Amino acid sequence: MTQSENAKGSCLCGAVSLEIEDLDNHLGACHCHMCRKWGGGPLMALVGSKVSIKGEKAIKVFDSSAWAERGFCRECGTHLFYRIKETQQYHIPVGLLEKESNIDFNLQVFIDEKPSYYDFANQTEIMTGTEVFAKYAPDTEAT
Ligand SMILES: [Zn+2]
Ligand SMILES: [Zn+2]
Repeated sequence: MTQSENAKGSCLCGAVSLEIEDLDNHLGACHCHMCRKWGGGPLMALVGSKVSIKGEKAIKVFDSSAWAERGFCRECGTHLFYRIKETQQYHIPVGLLEKESNIDFNLQVFIDEKPSYYDFANQTEIMTGTEVFAKYAPDTEAT
């Protein structure tokens, strides 16, 4: 299921580049208020943990919640990752990648926070915020 090939990505200005050893080819979209405020729309990202970063000093990390932080390029503003603090798992925005083949969009989360003005036509698994917290962080309070 999980595809293991080194994926490469970079920000708009090129100051930061990433290489992800274990990037999953399953694409998830998050409709939560924070992601939409951060990016102007839903966050569409792939998961990986073995990430090597070049241009680290151009990265600003924003501490967005008790459990996660968000990194962006301080030169061009490109969003680089959403990172779970405890596990150091990265969610990498799909638009950063050089290669966009073999991506399977199969999950939408925080569907209960999705505004009514858009809907994805893709057939995916759908989870509410409550379901996400119950599955991935049973001890975390949903805020
Ligand atoms: Zn940049
Ligand atoms: Zn979100």
